[in-house]
Amino acid sequence: MAGCIFCKIESGEIKAKIVYEDETVIAFEDINPKAPVHILIIPREHIERVSDIDKDGGVTGKLIFVATRLARERGIESSGYRLIINCNKDAGQEVPHLHLHLMGGRKFTWPPG
Ligand code: AMP
Ligand code: ZN
Repeated sequence: MAGCIFCKIESGEIKAKIVYEDETVIAFEDINPKAPVHILIIPREHIERVSDIDKDGGVTGKLIFVATRLARERGIESSGYRLIINCNKDAGQEVPHLHLHLMGGRKFTWPPG
């Protein structure tokens, strides 16, 4: 998708610290981390928001699977972590390419702000 920053990371046009990739998804370090571990997992395919996924959930299960494995790898599985998908304006979605935030390494409050 022309102009999409995450599609540019996917194609290699914009550099990112990629921590995992396969044929359907890529994971990279958030450029402005809000926790000691803050990784974004995205589908290679340009899907604008989580509400645009197809009826069986498409690639979202894969995003979650990869996040859980990265959490294990980073040693935050037993302490805990958050998986977050922001959808549209009220949730604060800034980048219109579906992404799952994996955040951990500190204690979070509930409910989120
Ligand atoms: P959201 O508010 O859910 O759309 O989150 C977008 C996230 O993308 C934010 O946490 C940003 O820090 C992150 N971000 C924006 N541009 C880049 C980039 N070039 N590389 C890595 N992360 C980015
Ligand atoms: Zn995109």
